[in-house]
Amino acid sequence: MSSKLKALRGMGDILPEQAEAWRKVESVCADLFASYGYKQIRTPVLESTALFARSIGEETDIVSKEMYTFKDRNDENVTLRPEGTASCVRAGIEHGLFYNQLQRLWYIGPMFRYERPQKGRYRQFHQIGVETYGWHSVDIEAEVLGLTQAIWQNLGLRNTNLEINSLGSSQARAAFRERLVDYLSDYKDQLDADSQRRLSSNPLRILDSKVAQTQEILVGAPSILDCLDDSDKQDFDQLQQYLTALNVPFVVNPRLVRGLDYYNNTVFEWVAQDFGAQATVCAGGRYDGLVEQLGGAATPAFGFALGMERLIQLLQEQEASSVTHTSDPQVYIVSMGAACRAKALEIASELTRAGIRVLTHCGEGSLKNQFKKADKSGSSLAIVIGESELEMSVASLKTLRRKENAVNQGQAGQNNQVEVPFNQLLDAVTNAL
Ligand code: ATP
Ligand code: MG
Repeated sequence: MSSKLKALRGMGDILPEQAEAWRKVESVCADLFASYGYKQIRTPVLESTALFARSIGEETDIVSKEMYTFKDRNDENVTLRPEGTASCVRAGIEHGLFYNQLQRLWYIGPMFRYERPQKGRYRQFHQIGVETYGWHSVDIEAEVLGLTQAIWQNLGLRNTNLEINSLGSSQARAAFRERLVDYLSDYKDQLDADSQRRLSSNPLRILDSKVAQTQEILVGAPSILDCLDDSDKQDFDQLQQYLTALNVPFVVNPRLVRGLDYYNNTVFEWVAQDFGAQATVCAGGRYDGLVEQLGGAATPAFGFALGMERLIQLLQEQEASSVTHTSDPQVYIVSMGAACRAKALEIASELTRAGIRVLTHCGEGSLKNQFKKADKSGSSLAIVIGESELEMSVASLKTLRRKENAVNQGQAGQNNQVEVPFNQLLDAVTNAL
């Protein structure tokens, strides 16, 4: 007996009833990106493993244990992308996009990480991201943060807060690293096992620990903000002033670090209240060293990625109208027999080209059965093509009971039906909708 075929663990299907919410989020983002002058870039899902190892960092969770890495048929070491920034930088260098140019880019697509699946955490998930190249100044950071706020506003997302921090220059981080290790070494035995390991490999990531006892120890830890040099401090202050001017509320969280090695100076996260452990919807920061590190000319960069699964789940939990509203068909075409069906298909073709949402009854079905389906479809109008209509070159236009009040209204009235000549049908339908 063959075993049942199933999707892989942590890799979800987006079923038709969900897909509309996805399209809504995609279109709100795409429209906003276009208004802000951001251009889309599309890169492959599969890249050479070295790209991610060299950019994200060997010591990070992503590279050390989460990547889908395998040899292809030519023995090349390849990886399903775990994030979008590395590919964006690779493509930018390869095609000269950073050469004397400023770039405002965005991308969308699936990412792959071998994590333990749970709410808000999957093995295939989707990100929408923005990357900017060429600006040292924090004005671009304020622009990008304002853009993320606009996304939430246009989608009706509530109760999601912006946290910002500055990691400073690499010198500042080195000084901070030393102070942090000094402090934490005294508590080494009380740290969780992961954090003990990170004390030598990647101590800044300890700040990110979700373990309560480790968090308690961290309360007294030194702050990275005390290690910033004057110009980093000025930049961070300036960003805060811009955000205030833009009316983007934020809190400074000195313990905010990011899971990828390439960030410097500003980092940020949008964190949802009441969403459990996987509460970060959107995260990003500045990564001025990465383009050079991957073989390009030194190019300042700033960007973010938002997790679409988390965002959509949040919107649904909040019952935001942007994702709960579904667009039913507007017109259902009822017809009997091949000659009438041909006319029905022709009318559907005319109406859909005018932007009207139409369902044509296809297949078998008595008139009664077709009207039942029309009612159930949520359409507000039915067009009926019977033999007598066809002979007179008219269609019957009938108002339908709406799905939601079908029960209360009882039987549809008798005189809600008018005959309209075929060549006036589009106008009549448009007026009736
Ligand atoms: P986390 O701390 O939650 O693991 P991260 O720091 O690994 O997040 P990033 O690499 O910055 O996340 O990715 C940006 C966003 O992508 C996250 O804020 C989240 O919304 C989403 N994301 C990351 N990993 C996953 C995943 N495995 N499943 C679903 N969404 C994810
Ligand atoms: Mg992660």
